[in-house]
Amino acid sequence: MIVVGAGFTGLSAADALVAAGLDVIVLEARDRVGGRVERTAFADGVAMDTGGQFICDEMPNVIALTRRFGMSLVETPLQGAFLVQPQALADTGSSFAESGRIRARGNRIDPRDPAIAGLTVGEWLARQSDPPGAKASYQAMVEGLWCRPIEEIPLWYLIDNDRRTISNGNELQYFAEGTIHVLAEALAATLGPRLRLGTPVLHITRTDGSVLVTRGNGDVLTARQMIIAVPPVMASRIVHVPELPKPLDGALAAWKSGTVIKALVRYERPFWRDRGLSGMIMWRDTLGLFACDVSSAQTTALVVFAGGPLAVEWSGRGRVFIEVEIRRRLVDALGEAAADVTGLLIRNWVSDPWSGGGYSDVIADLQAYDTEDILRAGAPPVHFASSELASSFPAYIEGAIVAGREAAVRVIATVQSAIATSASGS
Ligand SMILES: Cc1cc2nc3c(=O)[nH]c(=O)nc-3n(C[C@H](O)[C@H](O)[C@H](O)COP(=O)(O)OP(=O)(O)OC[C@H]3O[C@@H](n4cnc5c(N)ncnc54)[C@H](O)[C@@H]3O)c2cc1C
Repeated sequence: MIVVGAGFTGLSAADALVAAGLDVIVLEARDRVGGRVERTAFADGVAMDTGGQFICDEMPNVIALTRRFGMSLVETPLQGAFLVQPQALADTGSSFAESGRIRARGNRIDPRDPAIAGLTVGEWLARQSDPPGAKASYQAMVEGLWCRPIEEIPLWYLIDNDRRTISNGNELQYFAEGTIHVLAEALAATLGPRLRLGTPVLHITRTDGSVLVTRGNGDVLTARQMIIAVPPVMASRIVHVPELPKPLDGALAAWKSGTVIKALVRYERPFWRDRGLSGMIMWRDTLGLFACDVSSAQTTALVVFAGGPLAVEWSGRGRVFIEVEIRRRLVDALGEAAADVTGLLIRNWVSDPWSGGGYSDVIADLQAYDTEDILRAGAPPVHFASSELASSFPAYIEGAIVAGREAAVRVIATVQSAIATSASGS
């Protein structure tokens, strides 16, 4: 059994396959595990999550995994006032609540309702009679979370995706002490020599009854089954011989990578709390920009996200521009004390070579209703998995664990059925 990719999807699939007694090899392109979950250390050695970070009580699988490996969770400090920038647009508790009502109204529509066929989120929003402030907040929320322009996202996809995602609690509820990336490493450590880092899979050949994988160095590995546990856009870059069936090719081509930049900004102390502020900031003049307090006993820090079209624009202007913009906007929002930054990490995920732009890939084809079902069915012995395909919390770490385990169940069923067939034939 070969698993391609050692993000949470691939690691969780491998974990389940090993538990079922199967032989597994995991091939990972990078020289580390975790994929869209990674950690980066500041000069003083303090490490923080520069990829996925937050989890909440409504995500049972990732919570259980943190318990399995004895990890401690930190409650995200959320007490205090939520800031909307610029202050002149802070009409806002109300427009924020109204944008939530637009989201709930959308989610009540059946994704397959012919009345919304062919509509993008942008076109649907233009038809709503809500106040402009509420619409702008809704657009900021969608572009900040799905990380693509609302003119590109099919409405049916957003509804279907959000219905599987939405939590009644707070998605920012916890982060892991010492980073959630350590959890990926802990899971990977249980695999021992079954895990091969620095091993991109570029070429897959299907023969009668087995799969041949050509690794970056030209070596060939053989397996009975394989799970390609990489985001759909990355999966579409792997060459298959013979070509994948047409519907699968089309299903892989229906996605675009999201685009996000994540920054971690450290301070001596959480000075914003002196003014009763939570550190949570949403910019209404710059859609897709959001900040939140991620201070812990270890350090004081704000995380800043630039998502969607904003990330593409900032990425094009380069790192110095991004740093200057983040500093300037934090000073505008929180005052001069925000200029006294003691450490800054900027992780630009736009065009990441192995995971795409983050947080997740998004379907950008208005007609591609069956895309996820086609990918879940795969072309056995080749199976597909990634957080995007999860039945719950797609595009989250929780979703990756769910998707990995769901793929493992499909593979185990295929193996058992092959054994049953050969037993009945002998
Ligand atoms: C900046 C950022 C912030 C986020 N914040 C959160 C958050 O707070 N909470 C949350 O729940 N989620 C968050 N997410 C989303 C979450 O991180 C992802 O949904 C999840 O980690 C995806 O896991 P995955 O295993 O499906 O994919 P990935 O993590 O992308 O794993 C795929 C792996 O496959 C490897 N790979 C790709 N191609 C090949 C190949 N050809 N051969 C071999 N290996 C290959 C990649 O290197 C990678 O390791 C965030 C993501 C980003 C980028």
